[in-house]
Amino acid sequence: MSSSNDRAAWLHGNGTPCDSNHTLPERAWRIILLGAPGIGKGTQAEMLAQCLGSCHLSTGDIFRAAKCLAPDQLSPAMRSALGYMQRGELVPNQIVIDMVAERMRCLNCLHGFLLDGFPRTVEQARALDALMDDQGHRFDAVLSFDLDTEQVIERLSGRRTCSQCKTTFHIKGKPPKVEGVCDKCGAPLYQREDDRPDAIAVRLRAYHDSTAPLEAYYEQQGLLRRVDAGGAPAEVFKRALTVLG
Ligand code: AMP
Repeated sequence: MSSSNDRAAWLHGNGTPCDSNHTLPERAWRIILLGAPGIGKGTQAEMLAQCLGSCHLSTGDIFRAAKCLAPDQLSPAMRSALGYMQRGELVPNQIVIDMVAERMRCLNCLHGFLLDGFPRTVEQARALDALMDDQGHRFDAVLSFDLDTEQVIERLSGRRTCSQCKTTFHIKGKPPKVEGVCDKCGAPLYQREDDRPDAIAVRLRAYHDSTAPLEAYYEQQGLLRRVDAGGAPAEVFKRALTVLG
């Protein structure tokens, strides 16, 4: 994704057009990012998107965009999804699968994509395979980011997010210049409600029970590439590019 790509079609669905100034890359990369919540997938997705010219498509971002809407603008499915999200639980498969299927245009896009946070269960992965097969597309790779659980909890609990531009910081690893204020746009930073300790425990359990089995699923398809997620974002990014070859 170049900075001119607003991902409007992905975030808002319903045929919303994206910013048309986004230049086409030479190749449409189609990549899935796997890894525990808080491991840094979003940061890596942004860096990869800048470098490869593909779009960062996060299902969590769709829910967070919906949270900013008035309740009467939300479908019943989206209202129920936001309740699951608030508790740190996974949103039921069918709601997420329908939401992605409605945005099939983004999976067909000539810019390619980096899927972040989807699929999260084997059922979602099977549905995604069916959608891709229908369109005659194949994935280039599934990047699986690894880090031990203690470090994941440390990253999640220290994360702070800009209320305006959504840039993320970390109170120790990447503190803002002024405490509580975004370096980029000056808006206040906040702690996502699902980054609080009780929700973190629920999210990590959901990850281990439902999402970790996807590693075996994609390994069988010969797509899985493991990336050590330890260290600074730039080091992780270098490793990710190396495994993409
Ligand atoms: P994320 O930003 O990817 O950590 O997603 C935030 C929250 O959105 C998750 O904790 C879930 O409640 C919900 N969510 C996002 N993607 C999915 C998915 N593929 N399946 C189920 N729930 C999801």
